Amino acid sequence: MTNTRKRYALALHGGAGPVAGRNYDSVEAHLKTLALECEVLLADGRSALDVVEIAVAELEASGLYVAGRGSARNTAGYVELDASIMDGPTRKAGGVAVIKGFVSPIRIARGVMEKTPHVLLAGAGAAEFARGHGYEEVSDPNNYYVVPVGVTANEMRDSHTHGTVGAVALDQSGALAAGTSTGGTFGKLEGRVGDTPLIGAGTWADDDVAISCTGTGEHIIRAGGALSIACAFKNGVPLAKAMQSMLDEVKRLGGDAGAIAISRNAGITMLYNSDGMKRASVSMDQPLHVTTFD
Ligand code: ASP
Repeated sequence: MTNTRKRYALALHGGAGPVAGRNYDSVEAHLKTLALECEVLLADGRSALDVVEIAVAELEASGLYVAGRGSARNTAGYVELDASIMDGPTRKAGGVAVIKGFVSPIRIARGVMEKTPHVLLAGAGAAEFARGHGYEEVSDPNNYYVVPVGVTANEMRDSHTHGTVGAVALDQSGALAAGTSTGGTFGKLEGRVGDTPLIGAGTWADDDVAISCTGTGEHIIRAGGALSIACAFKNGVPLAKAMQSMLDEVKRLGGDAGAIAISRNAGITMLYNSDGMKRASVSMDQPLHVTTFD
């Protein structure tokens, strides 16, 4: 009998920054609920692009991860955020970098993609665009931000650890999409931009694969990032091998990283070379899987 079920797949990450021995139960419970909600959307025929945006916006708003509400201040004492999103079939993409005062950078990134001729807006110009289009602003920046799960307030001030959130999806029409959002690395300088808002570094989607990266952004950029994985995959290298090569290069350069990817055939790959990576995956023929360390 032919299987007539339509294909869909989803993978989420909550960053490659977890520290071995710490407890991430509440994060895993959140990823589980969110992945199941997103699965319903995909099973109902919602687009990969919408699901990626919805998933990343929820991860940002939760305050559980180093993105959106859970972000740390830079060395100048305020929160600057980065995000990007990409639609595989159209290759349209949008990003924001070093934006401050807004609740959902991923939603603004989608706005940049759909409402401007540009791919990336940064700083004051990004904020001006977001304000002009009515994206939600943080009403009280002194009280909005919280310490995310698994991080101490001291680490948020002066360590160089990090965290990010991301989503990749394949919808029933065969379209792939990817999105990533971050508060960046702790102790970062004012104006610092990592891999996350850069299309091809932190985020990539085309007809073959959708990828979201996490880890030390400077090393991910220098290792070729998501696009180097996509190019190797297009040239016949198995997805896991292509991803591992990029991660090995990050390691060789002195960083750590992880990535999640979905291929056009609904294959899900999630690898990391840090202590762990908070992550969840589900597809039309793979049950929900949520884990951090193993
Ligand atoms: N890649 C992010 C950055 O460098 C951090 C992370 O993924 O943990 O800004």
